[in-house]
Amino acid sequence: MKLETRILETDILVIGGGTAGCYAAVTLSKEEKNNIIVADKANIKRSGCLAAGVNAINAYINKGYTPEDFVDYVKKEASGIIREDLVYSIAKNLNNVTKNMESIGLTILKDSQGEYVTRGKRSIKINGENIKPLLANEVNSKKNINVLNKVNIVDYIMQEDTVVGAYGFHIEENIFYIIYSKAVICTTGGASGLYKPNNPGFSKHKMWYSPFNTGAGYAMGIRAGAEMTSFEMRFIALRCKDTIAPTGTVAQGIGAKQVNANENEYVKNYGKPLTITRLYATVEENRKGQGPCYLKTKGISKEVEEELYKAYLNMAPAQTLKWIEDGYGPSMQNLEIEGTEPYIVGGHAASGYWVDVTRSTTIPGLYAAGDVAGGSPKKYVTGCFVEGEIAADAATEFIKNKKINYIGQEEINSKAIYLEGFLKDEESLFSINNVEEAMQKVMDEYAGGISKNYVFNTTRLHIASGKIEELLVISSKLRAKDMRELLQIYEVIDRLYVCKVLIVHLLFRKETRWKCYGENADYKEKDENLLKYVNSIYKDGKVQVVFRNLVKRDEVYEH
Ligand SMILES: Cc1cc2nc3c(=O)[nH]c(=O)nc-3n(C[C@H](O)[C@H](O)[C@H](O)COP(=O)(O)OP(=O)(O)OC[C@H]3O[C@@H](n4cnc5c(N)ncnc54)[C@H](O)[C@@H]3O)c2cc1C
Repeated sequence: MKLETRILETDILVIGGGTAGCYAAVTLSKEEKNNIIVADKANIKRSGCLAAGVNAINAYINKGYTPEDFVDYVKKEASGIIREDLVYSIAKNLNNVTKNMESIGLTILKDSQGEYVTRGKRSIKINGENIKPLLANEVNSKKNINVLNKVNIVDYIMQEDTVVGAYGFHIEENIFYIIYSKAVICTTGGASGLYKPNNPGFSKHKMWYSPFNTGAGYAMGIRAGAEMTSFEMRFIALRCKDTIAPTGTVAQGIGAKQVNANENEYVKNYGKPLTITRLYATVEENRKGQGPCYLKTKGISKEVEEELYKAYLNMAPAQTLKWIEDGYGPSMQNLEIEGTEPYIVGGHAASGYWVDVTRSTTIPGLYAAGDVAGGSPKKYVTGCFVEGEIAADAATEFIKNKKINYIGQEEINSKAIYLEGFLKDEESLFSINNVEEAMQKVMDEYAGGISKNYVFNTTRLHIASGKIEELLVISSKLRAKDMRELLQIYEVIDRLYVCKVLIVHLLFRKETRWKCYGENADYKEKDENLLKYVNSIYKDGKVQVVFRNLVKRDEVYEH
């Protein structure tokens, strides 16, 4: 199959029109001279993590708290491994971006005094089913933004060490895109689908994280030699069993306690009630034969039950439907909970691009924001907005007096030939699904997945590393009969690159700093000498590790 080559030019290319990407684009558009392209593999109206909506703003500075408190909280939750400078820059702007979202139509619940209704210390309640269409409308209304929906970006166009644009393809039409730009902002979210998921077969995409965020931004950065940080801080969510719907709505929303099969509250037996402890305690109770574990909802009033139905319809409708289908709502049965497979996601944990405070990566001209950017966990929706805004302001400054740089026709041809190589009308020995399932099995069994209670050791990680290398070789021989299959091939290749880097990070953090997220059976305790960032750069086929010192709140870090 031959691809038609289409060449575009813009001032700033935003890759991924999700939470951070849309907010970045709207910020960029305020400078009238900026021409912006937003390229998204889906349609920005309902793409990424916000596709189904959210029912709370989880990062907000409520009355009585300060941005400094927020930094302290995130630091405690991450056992010290955060970029305080990044988290602080987010914390200072959380409330501004929330106001901006309210001004474009987001419904934030208010009490009789007109104050936002809080959910815990750092969260406020919203009616957020339509949060993504609201954002997308804002983007689509700007004259200087051109949105390319259904365009999957695969790699940066590099000139020496600088990014000068990106390659992509349409996922339905036979079009190969060359998009030149003076700066690029990567906002492709985190990586799901690396590990064997909770649900098999047809339901495999019923997972916590967006199944379409397959680590493309990480993989592009890895292949281009960008420095990455903290991949070994995986994120595992504690979710409602089977539907994989969030539990915060019940745990924080109505204060339901975690109980085991004997209805005993168990989290207190495992330490301070941090996010990780709630997960680890559940895994341990199950391991000891004291599961299933639940959120205790039996006995709540019919009014509260009704509220829960509505809250889940705003965000994870499957949970409401399950209760209705069962014929028993949460007032009559406790809500069973389980841990998901591990994800790599910089918005909950700290994995991603190593950036400075302007969100510039180590590659000149390339910025990263949202779940793809590392160092600042617990950023959630509003933190992604703030990062999008910061990256947009920095990119606007960066492109002043800059020209577009072009690459030679030979380089363009060779990328087109590479893509067309997958689009041959011939059977490959293995299917895309075979490779995906093999990767997930390897990661599950040898790199600390659900079946191993998230625990790994050095020997297992070395086995995983060898098998992922084999799968990378096999993946280059996959064949696609159309553009959608080409997309799927890229999704699996990108995830294999993320796995490759992740395994090296897990090997190099020779301690157990975070239960479940990074539990190394060979090094069961924390090592205070490892109060450092594990960073890596991919070069000549090898992942090279560098340790970096912690950055404090008021320090100025420069690449
Ligand atoms: C189920 C769930 C519930 C959540 N609930 C809450 C909540 O209640 N409150 C809260 O504050 N936070 C919540 N969060 C967290 C929050 O939603 C995320 O942290 C945030 O939305 C991530 O934003 P992002 O811009 O990094 O990624 P996304 O918004 O996911 O955007 C990534 C975009 O990149 C596109 N993309 C990916 N790869 C490519 C490619 N190769 N080429 C082109 N485009 C690409 C995707 O299509 C997508 O549009 C939740 C997250 C999840 C998954």
